[in-house]
Amino acid sequence: MAAAIFAAERTSRVLLIDHADVLGGTLWVANGQLSAAGTRLQRDKGIEDDAQAHFDDIMRLSRGTANEALVRLAVWNAAETFDWLMEQGFDIDPACPVDGVGHEPYSRARYYWGRNGGASLRDVLIPRIEQAVADGRISLRLGHEALSLTTNPGGAVTGVTTRDAQGAEHHFEAAQTVLATGGYSASPDVYQALNGVPLYTNLPYAYSQGVGHRLGCSVGGWLRGQENFFINFGFLLDGEGPRPGMVGRLNTYPQRRPPWEIYVNAHGDRFVREDMESVDARENALLEQPVQRYWVVFDERILTEAPPFIAGFDAGEIRALFADDRPFFYKANDLETLAQKAGVDAHGLMRAVRGYNYGVHSGNDFLGRRHLPLPIAQGPFYAIRVQGAAVSSAVGLAVNDQLQVIRPDGSAIPGLWAAGELLGASQTMGRAVCGGMMATPALTFGRLLGQSFVPLNSKA
Ligand SMILES: Cc1cc2nc3c(=O)[nH]c(=O)nc-3n(C[C@H](O)[C@H](O)[C@H](O)COP(=O)(O)OP(=O)(O)OC[C@H]3O[C@@H](n4cnc5c(N)ncnc54)[C@H](O)[C@@H]3O)c2cc1C
Repeated sequence: MAAAIFAAERTSRVLLIDHADVLGGTLWVANGQLSAAGTRLQRDKGIEDDAQAHFDDIMRLSRGTANEALVRLAVWNAAETFDWLMEQGFDIDPACPVDGVGHEPYSRARYYWGRNGGASLRDVLIPRIEQAVADGRISLRLGHEALSLTTNPGGAVTGVTTRDAQGAEHHFEAAQTVLATGGYSASPDVYQALNGVPLYTNLPYAYSQGVGHRLGCSVGGWLRGQENFFINFGFLLDGEGPRPGMVGRLNTYPQRRPPWEIYVNAHGDRFVREDMESVDARENALLEQPVQRYWVVFDERILTEAPPFIAGFDAGEIRALFADDRPFFYKANDLETLAQKAGVDAHGLMRAVRGYNYGVHSGNDFLGRRHLPLPIAQGPFYAIRVQGAAVSSAVGLAVNDQLQVIRPDGSAIPGLWAAGELLGASQTMGRAVCGGMMATPALTFGRLLGQSFVPLNSKA
């Protein structure tokens, strides 16, 4: 959308194709949190920041795994993107900017979001596209799935073939094509093939099917970033899937609710200090567990006395989740039976509970946990299975620092550029979650491409 908007300021020959029958893409489901350094808003609020500090933070948070060239391109141009959004009336939450929320914090307050999450960004972008369509500067084809790219004998991309909702095929020619088809995290097959694990979330946008990945590869491009597959710290699912829904969100942020429960893996072992403040450390610990899965274990007294730990559920509603045959919510009168029901090693679980209870009584938890309110001692006992999963797609189409799609030998494929999640979360966030480093680069790279194709004064 950003590429189309900025290109349409310079030329009236922009064709925007979307498989969905509405504009907006992942902004229909995403939080739309952004990060940008050196913005006007920061200056107005007296926050000193610059792109170098943003870049250093991303390389620190990703432990050097992000793509330096693309992170540079993103962060040195992020402020201009953000300032533009503000000029267009972006309905920002007045609490912003902050250094972090939900993800590992930045060293400075450069994290922003709209009062309506992704909708606040849609409210800026979609009317501008609609206006450009009305002005005849953008031709819009909704409900058109891009099926293939065409090339000339020299290997340059010359256009795209689409299929509309009625099944008719269309061919469009263009000197410049930008692939911006997003990720693949709504496709169980592509997710499994590229990430090596099953897809355990239905949060990504339904059209994130990895088609752009296939199209780019079909003309000589290649995929990268498998080694940076990364997950969020877990979802409460309503079934095995594919693309299972969610029962709710666990409050696993010790800053908001210190944990009363323990977390164990399939071996029954505790694998992380549950009150570890760093969400990045908890995510990395989960990444190393079998199937990126853990169980939250507690007893009757904790269920009765602890503050509710599922966002939006009170204690009675949480208790009710165990009453029916709901998958992944387990209850038993003893730990051995609980472990068998939950699919956790029983000896391991009993050992973990004994060890944890020792820590509660002695004040010396083996893992160094500080919040030790109650032992896990009084049946019935409870366990909830929690699944780590990635909402953003790690693997992406390789591009150079001008966003041209490249071949394995590094040469650019003429006529073809790419932007957004199609480039892979592995590139702009590395093996970590860096706040705002998907949505902001998507907008920024789109803006840069839209601005670069036709000089402003030519108005072709
Ligand atoms: C639940 C959730 C929360 C998130 N929260 C944040 C956040 O707070 N901050 C952040 O930085 N990132 C966040 N992200 C990630 C971020 O929102 C996305 O990476 C980003 O919006 C992707 O933008 P995009 O333009 O590349 O892709 P999309 O917005 O997915 O757009 C791709 C478009 O291409 C279309 N398309 C796909 N295939 C075809 C085809 N074959 N032919 C034609 N059209 C096609 C789709 O319909 C879609 O409209 C979140 C993601 C999710 C799922």
